[in-house]
Amino acid sequence: MAKCPLCGTALDWGELIEQMLVIEDAEGLFKDRERFMATFESFVFRCPHCGEEFYGKNLPTREAEKVFALLNEFKGSIDWENKKVRLRLNSLLALDTMLEQWDKKVKG
Ligand SMILES: [Zn+2]
Repeated sequence: MAKCPLCGTALDWGELIEQMLVIEDAEGLFKDRERFMATFESFVFRCPHCGEEFYGKNLPTREAEKVFALLNEFKGSIDWENKKVRLRLNSLLALDTMLEQWDKKVKG
C-alpha cells in the first residue's frame, strides 16, 4: 500500500489522484498511460497527515499502474465536475492483491 515517505502514514489513492485532477488537460492525461505515468512520477503530492510534499516516484509504481487501469476500466470513475474519484481505489487494490495471491496459491 502507498505510504507517505516522510511520516509513514498509509495514503488513500483516491485522495492522491484527486490532487492530480487539477492538472491542465487532466482528462486527456488520464486516458494516456505513458503520459500519466511520466506525470505521476514527477508530480508533487502533499501528504494530508504531515503536510509534507513528495514526488510520485516515491510511491509504488505498480500500484500507480493498477490505479490507472482501474480508473479506465470503470466508466464514470472520476467525477470531473466536482474533481472527485468515485472509486474506492484502496479497497479495489487490496482485492486485486488478494486475488493475485489466491491465484498463485492455486497454481503453485
Ligand atoms: Zn506524511
